[in-house]
Amino acid sequence: MFAFNFNKITMPIFYGKAALIEFIHSVKSSDSTIGFVPTMGALHQGHLSLMQQSLAENTHTVVSIFVNPTQFNNPEDLEKYPRTLEKDTQKIFELNPNIMVYAPSVNDIYEGKVVSQSFDFDGLENQMEGKFRPGHFNGVGTIVKRLFEIVSPTNAYFGQKDFQQLQIVKKMVSKNHLDVTIIGCEIYREANGLAMSSRNERLSDSEREQAAIIYQTLLQAKEKFKTSSCKAVKQWVKEVFDANTNFDLEYFEIADEETLIPCDEKIKDKNYRAFIAIFVNNIRLIDTISLK
Ligand code: AMP
Repeated sequence: MFAFNFNKITMPIFYGKAALIEFIHSVKSSDSTIGFVPTMGALHQGHLSLMQQSLAENTHTVVSIFVNPTQFNNPEDLEKYPRTLEKDTQKIFELNPNIMVYAPSVNDIYEGKVVSQSFDFDGLENQMEGKFRPGHFNGVGTIVKRLFEIVSPTNAYFGQKDFQQLQIVKKMVSKNHLDVTIIGCEIYREANGLAMSSRNERLSDSEREQAAIIYQTLLQAKEKFKTSSCKAVKQWVKEVFDANTNFDLEYFEIADEETLIPCDEKIKDKNYRAFIAIFVNNIRLIDTISLK
């Protein structure tokens, strides 16, 4: 274990799983609970809100910072992904110096074999992100399962921003009978409504401002969904972005929240959600909104 020192207060940082497992074992007791927040770093307020929830609901909190290679289908995206470990640990420290940070190397996780396990997520993996990011969810399943084995959390916190990922993780937990509760957390947004994301760091100031249109469009789509068909709302969103040359829409979809099957005809009593993936100057952003 290494410690991050600040004004004589130290925060535990683990670079290897053996020391982390031992430390967690030493703090675990019959009335302790371990809250876990997996991240890829470049931390922003959205990540910190997950940590706050974990701190409020558990006796101990572990945060992992690991840019997981197997979930990137685009090598350039992996290469350009921001890596800011020092800043990240400072932010966590300021939030609460008792948080345990796990920042492993690729080898500590994959032990020489950087490959994904293959999962069956009952079709959740074939929709939206799954169509455009082949192999992505096998990579997510692989890393989350491995991190759960290492951290053995009581509760694990995931953002609804990656709603499909949240459903995939819940499915993986139930299919493998893992003893962990998955908690979906609210999306944290910038003042203009743009969902916070580590990728926002790569936007220029003006792109960041213009990207407010993504959430504005989702809000309007939600309004239109009250009186229009799924098809009509999808067509309207397509037209909004066809008319805006700064954005390249990859998909806009309306789907059943549970199965993620796209909506054709609205079915009464089903909960629908809108999902969007869009490029701004080659930077891929996603967002989602409940249509209830
Ligand atoms: P990432 O570092 O992008 O893998 O994200 C780590 C966790 O933080 C995931 O569960 C994300 O869904 C969550 N997250 C990312 N952005 C936000 C946000 N703006 N609001 C809430 N949670 C978020």
